[in-house]
Amino acid sequence: MIRDIDVVVIGGGQAGLAAGYHLRRRGLDFVVLDAQASPGGAWQQAWDSLNLFSPAAYSSLPGRVMPGQPGETYPDARHVVDYLTDYEQRYDLPVVRPVRVEAVHPDGDRLRVGTDTGIWRARAVISATGTWWRPFLPAVPGRTAFGGAQLHTVGYRRPADLAGQKVVVVGGGNSGAQIAADLVHATDLTWVTQRPTRFLADSVDGRALFDHATARRRALDEGSADTGGVASLGDIVVVPPVREARDAGLLKAQPMFRRLTATGVEWADGTRAEADTIIWCTGFRPALSHLAPLGLRGPRGHIPTAGTQALEEPRLHLLGYGDWTGPASATLIGVGRPARDAATAIVELLSLP
Ligand code: FAD
Repeated sequence: MIRDIDVVVIGGGQAGLAAGYHLRRRGLDFVVLDAQASPGGAWQQAWDSLNLFSPAAYSSLPGRVMPGQPGETYPDARHVVDYLTDYEQRYDLPVVRPVRVEAVHPDGDRLRVGTDTGIWRARAVISATGTWWRPFLPAVPGRTAFGGAQLHTVGYRRPADLAGQKVVVVGGGNSGAQIAADLVHATDLTWVTQRPTRFLADSVDGRALFDHATARRRALDEGSADTGGVASLGDIVVVPPVREARDAGLLKAQPMFRRLTATGVEWADGTRAEADTIIWCTGFRPALSHLAPLGLRGPRGHIPTAGTQALEEPRLHLLGYGDWTGPASATLIGVGRPARDAATAIVELLSLP
């Protein structure tokens, strides 16, 4: 089955829905193809205790403010799934799932989007597949020699699954800090970070980070000096569970170990720690393998873009993967603006003779 359409959006998480909102407003004929069986994107996969680092109103997609969650200043992942489910129904977004896009090829004046259920021929494509589906594991000596269990952030669920175990959590970002805080009471925990931990000031939450990113964008737009990205403020948002564990003195990080042994980890000075489980909170890469046939890959696995538009393939937009596809585009509140810009650029492109 081959169907022609104006735009195919690949991925039905928050970025794909924000794109859908703006494509709908511009009256384009489009479809959103999503590999998940149900709405909510990666938020459906989150560990049990994960809460947003921003209040609800600062976690909103275009057009619809996220309602507050009773009893929670910072809503949990379930609340985000409910919000995204309501969002796609409210705007009657044409999401088809589960459909996995396998490959995108050039096809004359169209892009051919091959899926596990058929082929779409689109005049433009927005890829919004996120990063959760491509966990990154660093090359550490001995990783295959270790006899215990190894998880990535994506595989972690709750402390009860690891109760009583010796656990090493690797990673000095938000996932590492939050999962370490989650485990401090239930496990014998070692937290390891590549560089000394950098907690943001306690007053800085996602709302303040968004304000900082907005002020920076405004300064850059006006040609003023760069105030530095949010990374210049620190690595770890001090959400309440992290604050509690840190203030109780339970969240002290060790430097990165040199290698894994059969039974644990070993530092450069020969010190060892036994481990039953190692949890790699070591980040993600953009899930872009479906775009490989276009031959657009640039440095660090990114595709070179101007804003969201691929430099070498103007019919392709990349949305929601991080600052390289728009400031704060990998956040709920930040993805709206690049989604709008992508829709505007596509309207212009499609109206060309
Ligand atoms: P996803 O939610 O991953 O959605 C992508 C969708 O595309 C998925 O449904 C996936 O199945 C589908 N897909 C993938 N490949 C294909 C394919 N080939 N074909 C078809 N469909 C495909 N942001 C905030 O604003 N506030 C926070 O507090 C916050 N906390 C976070 C905490 C963690 C631990 C992480 C990892 C991220 C957090 N983020 C937060 C960042 C961001 O909001 C989330 O990562 C969000 O899920 C990104 O949305 P997305 O739509 O880009 O990707």
